[in-house]
Amino acid sequence: MAPAQTLMADPVQPVISLVVPFYNEELVIDEFRSCIVPVLEATNELFEVICVNDGSHDRTAEMLDAICAEDPRFKAAHFSRNFGHQAAVTAGLHIARGRCAIVLDADLQDPPELIRSLLAKWREGFDIVYAQRRARAGEGRMKRGTAFLFYRTLAKLTEIEIPVDTGDFCLIDRRVIDILNAMPEHNRYIRGLRAWVGFRQAAVEFDRRERYAGESKYPLRRMVRLALDGVFSLSWAPLRMAIWLGLLLAATSLIVAIVLLVRKMTGTYETAGWASMIAIVLFLGGVQLVCIGAVGEYIGRIYDEVKQRPLYIIARTSGL
Ligand code: UDP
Ligand code: MG
Repeated sequence: MAPAQTLMADPVQPVISLVVPFYNEELVIDEFRSCIVPVLEATNELFEVICVNDGSHDRTAEMLDAICAEDPRFKAAHFSRNFGHQAAVTAGLHIARGRCAIVLDADLQDPPELIRSLLAKWREGFDIVYAQRRARAGEGRMKRGTAFLFYRTLAKLTEIEIPVDTGDFCLIDRRVIDILNAMPEHNRYIRGLRAWVGFRQAAVEFDRRERYAGESKYPLRRMVRLALDGVFSLSWAPLRMAIWLGLLLAATSLIVAIVLLVRKMTGTYETAGWASMIAIVLFLGGVQLVCIGAVGEYIGRIYDEVKQRPLYIIARTSGL
């Protein structure tokens, strides 16, 4: 049984915990604070803002500390190094004490005004309310195109229904937060886990804005990594792909063998074909390496899990 004190309502438990990851965001912090506070105050609910500093190298840490010293509703956790966006959001959800948590980017690409709509849906009884992008301003063709393709491919590859065009911007009810917090997996793709848990989910549409200042912390390399985490943590499809490719090639080789046999018997067989031979050998080598690579991805992830290292390390906190 749970200890008695956890059964009693915490008198100062905030209703809303805002969870915000910061990585080298010195240019946006002040604007972030001045946009977010009025929106949260207008809800007339008790709130806390959990700022997770993901090992920033700029003045983010000092600036967050100063805000926490001034305003006790702000709390900061500083990672010992950069552990990545998903780890930062995970830490924020671990720390959050609210009856619901709202995950939001620091760069104001996710419009704070939408918090009202998220809360309204939550009060209607939804456990997860995610913000779905209608349009994305200020993001290059490349990013929009790849994101468009990725979300649709991922939706096809997995059996669970992952809503397309949703980022981490969402509201999560306390009981779902507790479930997500109890999931120990390391290569976290939070929007996938969020879809996987089920419960009553609703979408609220919005237009994604331009970043307020500074640059995206997601260069192509990290986007690819996040995309791979999405696929490999939610889907078996790459492993099955090896089986299907293998069957397809075996069937092809059988047909080729029959054709060659017939030609040999009918005397129309010619012994040319060095070029085609090389092409076939290279093709098969490529297919095999891709399949081994896919298996390797899963083994690497298993290795990460069995090491059981923490998902992140908090070096120090302020206001907590
Ligand atoms: N972020 C983070 N750790 C990282 C990269 C990004 O905490 O390693 C934070 C970043 O400060 C921002 C959010 O995650 O609040 C989203 O990052 P960004 O805006 O750079 O991504 P984009 O919107 O371009 O996809
Ligand atoms: Mg951004």
